[in-house]
Amino acid sequence: MSELARQYDVVILGSGPGGIQAAIHASRKKASTLLLGRIADSSLFWAHVENYCCMFKVSGEEILRTGREQAQAFGAEFFDEDVLKVEKNGDLIVMETESGEIIEAKSLIIATGTTRNKLGVPGEKELLGKGVSYCADCDAGFFKNEVVVVAGCRSAAAGGAVTLSHHASETHLICNELDVSDKLRLRLVDAGVIMHEGRSIEKIEGEHAVTGVTLDDGEKLDCAGVFIELGAKGVLELAASLGLTMDESMRYVDVDRKQRTNVKGIFAAGDITGPPLQMAKAVGEGCVAGVSAAAHAKQFK
Ligand SMILES: Cc1cc2nc3c(=O)[nH]c(=O)nc-3n(C[C@H](O)[C@H](O)[C@H](O)COP(=O)(O)OP(=O)(O)OC[C@H]3O[C@@H](n4cnc5c(N)ncnc54)[C@H](O)[C@@H]3O)c2cc1C
Repeated sequence: MSELARQYDVVILGSGPGGIQAAIHASRKKASTLLLGRIADSSLFWAHVENYCCMFKVSGEEILRTGREQAQAFGAEFFDEDVLKVEKNGDLIVMETESGEIIEAKSLIIATGTTRNKLGVPGEKELLGKGVSYCADCDAGFFKNEVVVVAGCRSAAAGGAVTLSHHASETHLICNELDVSDKLRLRLVDAGVIMHEGRSIEKIEGEHAVTGVTLDDGEKLDCAGVFIELGAKGVLELAASLGLTMDESMRYVDVDRKQRTNVKGIFAAGDITGPPLQMAKAVGEGCVAGVSAAAHAKQFK
């Protein structure tokens, strides 16, 4: 293991109900456990839950805050950052967070939910796959020496812009209010990403392929690619870098009854494994994943 890295038996990507339940079960099995992500980014945060067993009319925020305290009481640690990079290194899984922190795990549980938000502007749907993309890591190579635009204010957009800057001739980041760590902001500057803060895209231009975007003040920006990266680093990018198999729709990670993916030491739980996209399923799978991940980590001791 690297001496600079923070090391854990079990690392969980996602602080929603799936991740929190996994943390409760893993830490009760005496596995050192770290959760990444933010509870405010869980799709449950703004929900009012009426259909979860033994709870009637409870706010999602309250459930998540209680769950966080509960997991902490059993020894789990929380780190409110997204993971931008993850790879296998022998038996270990190595991650880099948005502030550049390196974390190593014996077992990894992916519980990142599923949301892949749309921008909802004219041209987005029509030009999907013709210059519009939702995955910088997957499609950056198609835009060598081209001008590209990235839309989004969070780690996915900033991380995607840094990746694209290695391929594109010019990378523009269009964002109302950038909300990333100071280190990630510095990486954007170092990568030469051109920032358009306080602005948004009104329309994606082009007939058969993207030719540009129109911004909210009417300015037109010529470009060949528009990357829509709203929110945190998504499942497609993480799955691609780890070699996880997905279902046919390429939205959900395949798991077995122990919540194991096809990659040894990597488990998945919650919305990321497919419908029903419900808290009850996320919690049940989180429980199984937490137990499986702790057992896997113990093999190293
Ligand atoms: C408006 C609304 C109402 C709902 N109402 C109900 C209801 O009444 N009953 C019900 O059962 N379900 C309801 N749901 C569904 C429920 O919220 C989800 O099924 C549940 O939250 C899924 O849990 P999860 O742990 O899989 O993912 P989520 O709760 O979505 O959590 C995902 C977590 O992953 C983290 N994350 C994402 N990317 C990264 C990354 N790169 N690195 C680190 N962390 C990352 C996020 O920060 C977040 O903490 C509702 C959903 C919505 C949107």
